[in-house]
Amino acid sequence: TKKLPPLQSFLSLVSRRGSHLARQQYDVIVVGGGHAGTEAAAAAARVGAETLLVSQKIQTIGALSCNPSLGGVGKGQLVKEVDALDGLCGRAGDWAGIHFSILNRRKGPAVWGPRAQLDRQRYREFIQNCCLLTVLEGSVEELLVSEPNPEEPGHHIVTGIRLANGSHLISASSVVLTTGTFLSGSLFLGQSMSPGGRIGDAPSSAGLSQTLRERLGLRIGRLRTGTPPRIVKDSVDLSLAHVHPPDSHPTPFSFLNTHTRCKPEEQLPCYLTYTTPGVERVVRESLHLNCHIQQETKGPRYCPSIESRVLRFPGRQHQVWLEPEGVTSDLLYPQGLSMTMPPDVQLRLIREIPAMHRAEIHTPGYGVQYDFVCPTQLSPALQVKSTQGLFLAGQINGTTGYEEAAAQGLWAGVNAARWALSMPPVALSRTESYIGVLIDDLVSRGVTEPYRMFTSRAEFRTSLRPDNADLRLTLKGFEEVGCVSTLRYQEAVRVRDSLQDALAALQALSLSTHNWRKKFPDMRMSEAKSTLLTGMDVLQYNDVSFEMLASAFPECLLPHVEFSQRLKIEAVYRPHCNLQKKEIERIQKEENMSLPQDIDYLSLPVSLSQEVREILDRVRPSTLGAATRLQGITPAAIVHLLNYVRHTG
Ligand code: FAD
Repeated sequence: TKKLPPLQSFLSLVSRRGSHLARQQYDVIVVGGGHAGTEAAAAAARVGAETLLVSQKIQTIGALSCNPSLGGVGKGQLVKEVDALDGLCGRAGDWAGIHFSILNRRKGPAVWGPRAQLDRQRYREFIQNCCLLTVLEGSVEELLVSEPNPEEPGHHIVTGIRLANGSHLISASSVVLTTGTFLSGSLFLGQSMSPGGRIGDAPSSAGLSQTLRERLGLRIGRLRTGTPPRIVKDSVDLSLAHVHPPDSHPTPFSFLNTHTRCKPEEQLPCYLTYTTPGVERVVRESLHLNCHIQQETKGPRYCPSIESRVLRFPGRQHQVWLEPEGVTSDLLYPQGLSMTMPPDVQLRLIREIPAMHRAEIHTPGYGVQYDFVCPTQLSPALQVKSTQGLFLAGQINGTTGYEEAAAQGLWAGVNAARWALSMPPVALSRTESYIGVLIDDLVSRGVTEPYRMFTSRAEFRTSLRPDNADLRLTLKGFEEVGCVSTLRYQEAVRVRDSLQDALAALQALSLSTHNWRKKFPDMRMSEAKSTLLTGMDVLQYNDVSFEMLASAFPECLLPHVEFSQRLKIEAVYRPHCNLQKKEIERIQKEENMSLPQDIDYLSLPVSLSQEVREILDRVRPSTLGAATRLQGITPAAIVHLLNYVRHTG
């Protein structure tokens, strides 16, 4: 169980495509083979649904449209959670990674960000080989939906899809749409605009947008994003950039893996360089040639184009990371230089950076604008509230990023399968996962700009750590959700039981401060001589590691060294998490507490955002439970409200 799975032949995937379709009726049809679609299809199949994945081109299934990397701060947590629920992207990252690092190491392990630079081709191959289900190459033109129920006007039931090339109809009990940037997509380069979802790919046919907008009456918005030019590696003078080495020991994303495919010494470095005043000058001089940047449509605030960066922060130097695109690739990906000006101007711009003064562009950067469905129209199962059996996931819901897409895809796939198999929907809460935070933010608050995950969005982030995603989700994924294999479940149970044994052994180890000092003379301890401290208490100290304790008490602790890092993290966070757990339990108990009707939410002297104050002021919930269920009210706001009412009442 510890080995990476062998890469199966790509041919096994394509053997069942096109006209060789075995059936015309499926439990679940997933439209789109990107990061949301592949996770959705694989998850639906794991739950036990007969699943069909339809995508425009089989060869682009699992393609990384933009940056060749996975994870990061907040995003790495999502990858770990997708993996804990038996999803694909963590294992694909371990297979395709060529530069692993844990970001944010200077902060606590709760907010560490596991990240890997990827080999594009290896990633795609891995995903394609994992999707051993029926795959159909084709473009979906229309959703088939029943006439609205006269008793529930406006409510439809999805019945299947129609393909673009004529009358090919396929029925299904549920459909998951994951069309990414393709829904009415337009590509922008300089002053030209052409229809497209990604360079080299046609947009989703207009019929699909029309079904969503006109037939189902959904509110649709428009967003934009962009990608940098790809640079010929040999044309860059890397001696003029700072080398950024990977971690010496790559940390796998997947709980099933103890090592990555890439050996430590085979990893490739990244390079850091900076923009110059010349870059800003070229941006300003070419604004009139750049129609993408002149559009009003909202772009990604946290992954902005070089044009937006320069215009927002004039006179600053901006970081540019030069990242390898793969082991055998001749290209570099210049992260931070997403741009949409004409190709000749792009060349002028990059040559203003010393390391790229003779650089050649392989493919120019470009921008894309696309439709998204306002996600407040979805339930926490990611089902469209007004259309039974229709689920949406990924960029179509207004998010940005592979990890956000994968997380939603998995959850939509699970629920689409459960719907098709007449099982009740399942939800993840904000208190148990980042996936819960992501979905709750989308369906309760909606988006005004492309949404990406940050650790600061999770109120309970000290409990939602990358290291414990398996304990939080794998057991639930097997016992309640049905999307986790027996093999992974058994491994998670073994880990849980071993950790419990190790924690009990640490707890049973009880010595006075005096005796601890005798064992570890260098340890800095402020407690009085006679205070009794357990191994768990002592492990919280910065200068104490589990290995140190195990060498002093080998009989009881040496059997647990496999989990030294996890035990150390658990010891550090346990007091805080216990408090947090009590807070969560207290809230659940206080559901029925009355809220005074004359309360002035707008000037309440507690820490509440303006948005939360306005919602409370408008709705004036009668109980704490009613406040909890309001769209846009966070658990943190409920804690503040609870404390206020208790102290004043
Ligand atoms: P995608 O990965 O886009 O997959 C959509 C899939 O649906 C494709 O396989 C497509 O062929 C298929 N499809 C679409 N319509 C149909 C149809 N009608 N029938 C059948 N199949 C269909 N993310 C960032 O985080 N930062 C960035 O800076 C960034 N820049 C980007 C720049 C560009 C130019 C593009 C194209 C994307 C960028 N992204 C960026 C977004 C990133 O690619 C997405 O967040 C991620 O891929 C979304 O995953 P998804 O599964 O929702 O959609």
